[in-house]
Amino acid sequence: MSAADHSAQYQAFQQLGLKLDMSRGKPSPEQLDLSNSLMDALDTYKAADGTDARNYGGTIGLPEVRALFAELLDVPAAQVVVDSSSSLSLMHDVIMYSLLNGVPGHAPWVQNPVTFLCPVPGYDRHFAICEARGIKMINIPMNADGPDMDLVEKLVAEDASIKGMWIVPKYSNPGGVVFSDQVVARLAAMKTAAPDFRLMWDDAYRFHHLGEKKLAVASILAACAKAGNPDRAIVFASSSKVSWAGSGVAALAASPANVAWWTRHAGIRSIGPDKINQLRHVRFLKDLPTVEALMEQHRQLLKPKFDAVLAQFQALLGDVPGVSWTHPEGGYFIDLITPDGAAKRTVALAKEAGITLTPAGAAFPYGLDPKDRHIRIAPSFPSLEEINKAAQGIALSLRLALAA
Ligand code: PLP
Repeated sequence: MSAADHSAQYQAFQQLGLKLDMSRGKPSPEQLDLSNSLMDALDTYKAADGTDARNYGGTIGLPEVRALFAELLDVPAAQVVVDSSSSLSLMHDVIMYSLLNGVPGHAPWVQNPVTFLCPVPGYDRHFAICEARGIKMINIPMNADGPDMDLVEKLVAEDASIKGMWIVPKYSNPGGVVFSDQVVARLAAMKTAAPDFRLMWDDAYRFHHLGEKKLAVASILAACAKAGNPDRAIVFASSSKVSWAGSGVAALAASPANVAWWTRHAGIRSIGPDKINQLRHVRFLKDLPTVEALMEQHRQLLKPKFDAVLAQFQALLGDVPGVSWTHPEGGYFIDLITPDGAAKRTVALAKEAGITLTPAGAAFPYGLDPKDRHIRIAPSFPSLEEINKAAQGIALSLRLALAA
């Protein structure tokens, strides 16, 4: 097909006058509807231990909601804190407490330069926290089974300014990578020059399968304890894409020392979390089988949208050299990889055709994709019909970008 043909196809698409926002991985209204019984899930404001959920108190969460997350995350309830509606805010606070006060038994990070390792492509909001708080970031290439561990082990062994690393261990945002047992064991056991090194283990997509098979990742807390580094990992999760995004419940799981540390600092920040929302979620989500059944309903809504994107890409980009895309088994994203230097132009052309994508480069620290070839596709929010059109528009935008 000639450049003129590509341009004509693109222009015909532009005439459709679409207006689609695919910039973030948000659940669709149909997915949110799955949890509507949260609206009347509350039969009482009394918690199991007699706590009046309407009042102040309970920094670490009600016992029943801690027990629920203990079952969901497969950790002892004593090692779980349930607080706020956003796991991202818990991650932010862990970093702030570490910077200003230091992790248990260590000086405040802020007394010296601080560096974080960032597997790329990764979650833009992780990188935004580091950038906003003056933490230097180093890109780590992602392999099919997790980050490049040879590089990670080398860097953490020789550089004491490396205090942490971002991890999305399952169906990573955006690459859909699932960490292997070997990678988990190496992260838990590696020698770090910084004795106060932390793994920010963001288990955001633990239950978000797209395939029939529910893939599992080894327990990082167990691996760290076994390796003699019990305080190394802090696990984060939330019900944002299980129940309601922004109105769910968020949890943190860690060693007893880290839980005590968190509780001390969080007690300064707040007189207690929203326990009414915690109780509602306990009534609604109940237990692991109930959560898994709900996630199966999410899967039924999401899978056709992912399939539609993959089918359009195959039809329209299958013959274009240097173009590839991921086939995720879970999570919220598809990565579209363009030839070097074509991602920004493709995103700009898509925008002119009415499709707003995540800015090219956003999945890299400082928004800089060194090869300008990564585009994050978020198929969850638009309707199936819209997503079909959008995938077509993105593919035509890429073809035109390459033809120019
Ligand atoms: N972590 C990852 C990897 C995400 O992709 C998202 C949302 O897209 C979040 C955390 C946000 O979680 P929360 O709503 O619990 O703050």
